[in-house]
Amino acid sequence: MTKETKELKRPSGRGLTEMRQMKAKVGVVPNADGSAMFTFGNTIAIAAVYGPRQLHPQHMQDPSTGILRVNYDLLSFSVSERKKPGPNRRSQEISKMTEFALLPVLDIKDFPNTVIDVQIYIIQADAGTRTAGINAASLALAHAGIPMKNLICSVALGKLDKELIIDLDKDEEDFEGGEGPTDFPLAKIANSDQFTLIQLDGKIQPERVKEIIDLANKACEKIYEVQKKALKEVIEQ
Ligand code: ADP
Repeated sequence: MTKETKELKRPSGRGLTEMRQMKAKVGVVPNADGSAMFTFGNTIAIAAVYGPRQLHPQHMQDPSTGILRVNYDLLSFSVSERKKPGPNRRSQEISKMTEFALLPVLDIKDFPNTVIDVQIYIIQADAGTRTAGINAASLALAHAGIPMKNLICSVALGKLDKELIIDLDKDEEDFEGGEGPTDFPLAKIANSDQFTLIQLDGKIQPERVKEIIDLANKACEKIYEVQKKALKEVIEQ
């Protein structure tokens, strides 16, 4: 570690690779077929799964497979500034990215003409909402008994000046110093080296991507442990 690295302080006071406290709970929406809550510090995501159920309108059905449909919503009261309720470009983009991140582990070929609806609600936002939403949705799908090859674990990396940091909160995500803010959300199949989501908002030198992947792997091991514990708790009830 260089002298500069030692002196570098995150706005949150955390170490460069220190994540926020994570919590997960499965079965938080009793009426849903599967549900879960996942938190990174002050960011709280709830996911509820409904289905597989017949897809309407009928012309949208696919006789060769079930369809995954994700709806992500950052609720108005999740942020202190005024946020107009309802869908917007950002929520549509995150819904689609979440679908792409989750689909590779789902085995839904045996549910032709059906849809599996995943509703993700961010009830409190302090950055990392898409990644918390993916972690919650992965747990909710498993809880709903949807055939899955594995869980998906997701975390965001970023930069503080030139240093890579993990699991950014809002102040860190907005940090303007040095090379400017960078948000690097990733999702991967647990216990594998297969990534299902890699997004980049900001700038990063291509040669640092390996470093990012290594950090994401370590973080995802921790996320997977939290997810497994939450699933075990509901099975043992
Ligand atoms: P992520 O939440 O995955 O980091 P973004 O980078 O789009 O996704 O958003 C960063 C953060 O900015 C959110 O977590 C939230 O804290 C805040 N934010 C996003 N949209 C709004 C909004 N409309 N009003 C207030 N804050 C918002």
